[in-house]
Amino acid sequence: MSILVVGSVALDSIQTPFGKVKDALGGSATYFSAAARLYGEAVNLVAVVGSDFPQEHVEFLQDRGVNLDGLQIAEGKTFRWSGRYDYDMNTAETLDTQLNVFATFHPQLPDAYRDAEYVFLANIDPVLQLEVLSQIRQPTLTVLDTMDYWLNYRKETLSQAISAVDIVLINEAEARQYANTFSLIRAARKILSQGPKALVVKKGEYGAVMFANGDVPTQSFFFAPAYPLEKIKDPTGAGDSFAGGFIGYLAQQGHATSHRESSVTKDEIKRAIVHGSVVASFTVEDFSVERLRTLTMEEIKARYRDFKVFTNFEPTCPWTDDCEHLNEKVP
Ligand code: AMP
Repeated sequence: MSILVVGSVALDSIQTPFGKVKDALGGSATYFSAAARLYGEAVNLVAVVGSDFPQEHVEFLQDRGVNLDGLQIAEGKTFRWSGRYDYDMNTAETLDTQLNVFATFHPQLPDAYRDAEYVFLANIDPVLQLEVLSQIRQPTLTVLDTMDYWLNYRKETLSQAISAVDIVLINEAEARQYANTFSLIRAARKILSQGPKALVVKKGEYGAVMFANGDVPTQSFFFAPAYPLEKIKDPTGAGDSFAGGFIGYLAQQGHATSHRESSVTKDEIKRAIVHGSVVASFTVEDFSVERLRTLTMEEIKARYRDFKVFTNFEPTCPWTDDCEHLNEKVP
């Protein structure tokens, strides 16, 4: 199944308690593509870089098999983001955002991109997210991510984009900011009332929560922890590589079943959240995309298996009454 992503391709300058990098490869579409490609499906990227963008970064994406027909190279400077993290690595402090060539960019999708089945509107101007969405013919699944910068500067357009997609991925603090409430549950309800079928709230080292519409709690919530890591070097890209694992897995499942028309089930979304958490757990082990350069599906599968053990706390049948029909020993 083909995946399309629009988002930033950036040069990031980052400081964390464990080091710093200047003008390193970053951007929401970069992390997403590098992560999603691990799942084997086609990834078509839409973005713009400036004439200063190093060729070695283009080669990295090409070597990963990312289709770059939709990557424009414009006269001017590449998008730059600079941020820092303190020991609480859950929240980035933005020091500077320079849109540069993104300020005047308007995507024109190559015709082959318009048949994309899985569409990820990564963190970028919601105006661009909507422009891309309007050029897609018949997507199976559309997913959106954003950040506080766009909540502050483009809230109305962001609301339109949120209304137009199936799933929203958002950080905890940004969900509260968007809905203007301290209650995450209320924030989730507000976002869901605008149209998406599901919302995935990312809570950094505390994992991720899925919210869906409905009154039955067991149908409306799902909680996944984050992988317990002793050493985190740089949380940048955790959200985007989470999205890459999430959609990469779903697209692979769509491929396996060839159910182009069928919608994604909640159980698939739950497993996709665990895939997202696993891939993000590797990304944060090093700066920029360094860890994604060497990451393999075998490593992803090993951590996925660990997640199964971490989150399973009951035997199949915890109470005697439930077990009468089973020939199982009750603890
Ligand atoms: P995350 O996965 O949420 O840590 O996203 C990190 C990436 O988002 C960085 O590599 C930045 O280049 C990129 N980024 C930061 N600010 C923006 C913005 N306002 N629009 C688009 N991308 C951004």
